[in-house]
Amino acid sequence: MTEALIELENVKYVYPDGVEALKGISLKVLKGERLAILGPNGAGKSTLVMHLNGLYSPKEGTVKVWNMPINDKNVHEIRRTVGIVFQNPDDQLFCPTLWEDVAFGPLNMGLSMKEVEVRVEEALGVMGLTGLEERAPHHLSLGERKRAAIATVLAMKPRVLVLDEPTANLDPRSRRGLIELLNNVHKVEGTTLVIATHDMDLAFQLTDRAYVLKAGSIITEGLMLEVLLNSKLLSDVGLETPTMAYITKR
Ligand code: ADP
Ligand code: MG
Repeated sequence: MTEALIELENVKYVYPDGVEALKGISLKVLKGERLAILGPNGAGKSTLVMHLNGLYSPKEGTVKVWNMPINDKNVHEIRRTVGIVFQNPDDQLFCPTLWEDVAFGPLNMGLSMKEVEVRVEEALGVMGLTGLEERAPHHLSLGERKRAAIATVLAMKPRVLVLDEPTANLDPRSRRGLIELLNNVHKVEGTTLVIATHDMDLAFQLTDRAYVLKAGSIITEGLMLEVLLNSKLLSDVGLETPTMAYITKR
């Protein structure tokens, strides 16, 4: 059995206004896998993502990372292990220059300046942003800001990289580039990938296994290909069978 890096047991979450966003989620993120969290808008994907490294705490149920329930003592360590890239890059970029944004995490980890410089250079290189170090993040294009947000997380060398709607609003070329970069990070670093999305083509190109969420509950789990070819299930939840899967099916 592959080890579970993250395990959720019966996680419930209610927003202060009473919206029950997660209604008892149990799932495992396995070491080294590429996992999709699928579901239409409002299904609870982003809320779930925030539980994976303790940004949100469940109202009921438990979240374990490396078999340890998240608590005040281990939450800092866990945030280094599990890095989350938010849907909106502007939530992740807040420094005057790109270099400072990417250096922020490693500096907070207490690494030496030399090590920080190496990490920033590497993360920018992997994301194809070398040369933009001194640019103001808010002057970069959306595609560049998305990659910059990923670089800020990669610079901390997380074991698990979680991305919330990574390709939302990207043009086809940036989108293709990003898929390639992410697959490469998985291949080269062995980083576990978790992708929350309603973009089935993206899930097909980037992941091997999936949980499908609807209205705060998991309605199915399985290999990506099985999920994709179940067109009845997908239309029931309002997701589209990706064009790629049609091609494979023929
Ligand atoms: P998804 O990412 O799948 O689109 P979300 O996790 O954002 O879904 O939302 C799940 C549910 O929680 C939705 O009904 C949404 O309206 C609600 N929700 C999300 N964020 C908040 C919030 N800050 N306050 C109240 N309700 C919220
Ligand atoms: Mg969302």
